[in-house]
Amino acid sequence: MSTRRGIGAGPGVATGPVARFGARPVLPMTAPGLGPDEPGRAAAALEHVAAELDRRAERAGSDGSDILAATAMIARDPGLADRVADLARTQPAAWAVDSAVGEYRALLAGGHLAERTTDLDDIRDRAVAWLLDQPVPGPPSPGHPYVLVATDLAPADTALLDPAQVLAIVTERGGPTSHTAILAKALGIPAVVGCAGSFVDGQVVQVDGDAGVVRTDPVPVTARTLLDVGPGRTADGHRIELLANIGGPDPVHGVEGVGLVRTEFLFLGRSRPPTVREQQAAYREVLAPLVGRKVVVRTLDAGSDKPIPYAATGSALGIRGFRIARARPDLLRDQLEALARAAADTGATPWVMAPMITTATEAAAFATAAREHGLTTAGAMIEVPAAALRAADIAAEVDFLSIGSNDLAQYTFAADRLLTDLADLLDPWQPALLDLVAHVATIPKPVSVCGEAAADPLLALVFAGLGIGALSMAPISLPAVRTALAAHTLPQCRELAAAVRRATTPAEARATARRLAEEAGQFRG
Ligand code: PEP
Ligand code: MG
Repeated sequence: MSTRRGIGAGPGVATGPVARFGARPVLPMTAPGLGPDEPGRAAAALEHVAAELDRRAERAGSDGSDILAATAMIARDPGLADRVADLARTQPAAWAVDSAVGEYRALLAGGHLAERTTDLDDIRDRAVAWLLDQPVPGPPSPGHPYVLVATDLAPADTALLDPAQVLAIVTERGGPTSHTAILAKALGIPAVVGCAGSFVDGQVVQVDGDAGVVRTDPVPVTARTLLDVGPGRTADGHRIELLANIGGPDPVHGVEGVGLVRTEFLFLGRSRPPTVREQQAAYREVLAPLVGRKVVVRTLDAGSDKPIPYAATGSALGIRGFRIARARPDLLRDQLEALARAAADTGATPWVMAPMITTATEAAAFATAAREHGLTTAGAMIEVPAAALRAADIAAEVDFLSIGSNDLAQYTFAADRLLTDLADLLDPWQPALLDLVAHVATIPKPVSVCGEAAADPLLALVFAGLGIGALSMAPISLPAVRTALAAHTLPQCRELAAAVRRATTPAEARATARRLAEEAGQFRG
């Protein structure tokens, strides 16, 4: 991982693909001959720029508006106008503006108004672009949220940045009191200024405005990062819920919700099950910070790789997950009762789901038990091929499905998920696994993926394309998945998924997805 140092200028941390600011107009090497009225053209250019700044000031918020209005006043400064008019008698208008602004700039540079030179550069760039009939330099519009990278930013541009599109700002120049810093703070955008180094469009970076550094991939991320980036959606606005997997009352600030609470934490390392009251207190802690947000609690998944002596110690093919209720229905009842009480205590509305559901009969039994306890939204995990194949029957009994791709891979390939030697079979890009996911995704009820596969940004595009509506993963993986989704439209995800489904090996599937994502021009994983 490489880190580029600068000055933290806007608080917070955000991760996303780079989009660079439009280049400044450059004067051609040789100037053309003088036109009939170069002073008039130069004056018109400055007035054009001032009027444009006024228009932007009207639309900007209060901080940006003042700065823009002040820049418009500089563009209308009589001293500047006189000097431009003078020079335009012997030089073409664009050259006259460039020289006059250059002289003003030299006066300010090094003094206490040095930060204001950016305002002058902005006036020069806009006026020269207008005179040379070149596009006005401005914010990029790649069509998805991005990290804005620029040499420096003028108030005219920063004031109008849309925080929903601009995840963060990085500038090569500028100090802690520059307009970039002032406006980034006003907009609540993380920013690092004075950060030298080249970035390329599409490159994923993490901007840490608190530490004043920009990290290039791979990026370490904390749950705190998620505060800054909003809900998950594709570039064309199709919502894909991005949720966290948690294993206890973990800090989950800033996430949209939680797609999997693994409740084993309460049952492990003890000789008898926790009481209803103990569980109620623990679930209260989990639910309290999630009031008003989605939270999916999974009932006990003891057995196999999570042996718990008093509940289940069976093999992967034995008593585990929902099957525990065959011998110990009291464990399920107590858990549902404790969860219902914690929901009432906190005002949260948890969804509840059972692991290892294999048949529609099991799904119906679980849903009945959950509803008897007042837990109205009951779901089934799809972790067994039989359940995936008959997902429609299972969905008829419950309110939602959640694909546990870790176990689904294990059972589909008859490959113990703990055996690293079998990693090739457990690869989530295996065509057979993707076939099962694709089939489950067609069910007209909420379907999520909450296994490790959901954390792969490329695979997330495939899942979105297959119709999966929510992805749940370790919080550290959320920003990269969010960025990948934001860089692709739903039709692009569908095209990608269709192409991946035609692949016959995991390597081919992965390579196909990568090629198409790169062709879409916006993904660098
Ligand atoms: C899964 O199997 O994919 C899953 C999410 O459950 P766990 O990893 O806890 O078995
Ligand atoms: Mg599982």
